Amino acid sequence: MSPDDLSPCPQCGAAPLDGKTCKDKYGEILALEFQEPAVFGAVHHITVTCYNLQHPDFFSDEAIEWMETSLRKIIEEGLSPAELRKSAGKRTGEGMKVRRRTAPAEVPRRSRWSMTVMDVRADNAEVYVRDIRAWARSILDDLSGDDCRQAS
Ligand SMILES: [Zn+2]
Repeated sequence: MSPDDLSPCPQCGAAPLDGKTCKDKYGEILALEFQEPAVFGAVHHITVTCYNLQHPDFFSDEAIEWMETSLRKIIEEGLSPAELRKSAGKRTGEGMKVRRRTAPAEVPRRSRWSMTVMDVRADNAEVYVRDIRAWARSILDDLSGDDCRQAS
């Protein structure tokens, strides 16, 4: 691995840990969720949404907004992934563009998050699920304290 691979993530700002980047860590926990869908996989939707919200370069504003709204619904209103999928289907039917057209460099992004995928511990399912939910909550808190997003 070259030293360049060990610089902080340009998107979420997470510093690599033990030679692993945030992308490596994300791959690891997704594998875990896939291996044990009943326990670790229970929070799969939250994991994916959290990671994408902190790595938004290739998503459209509409998709980012939708991800934030769905995360809020799950965390704050206790909506189940199944209920969410139903309303997601509705949104997709309206022709939501998921991919961004502008260059990633033009995307305004937060560089400091209270928590990133690197902070998620996967020691056991209980710790993991708690950390994923804490991660989601911290993202929602970070986003709601973000005034520059409301200007556009
Ligand atoms: Zn990252």
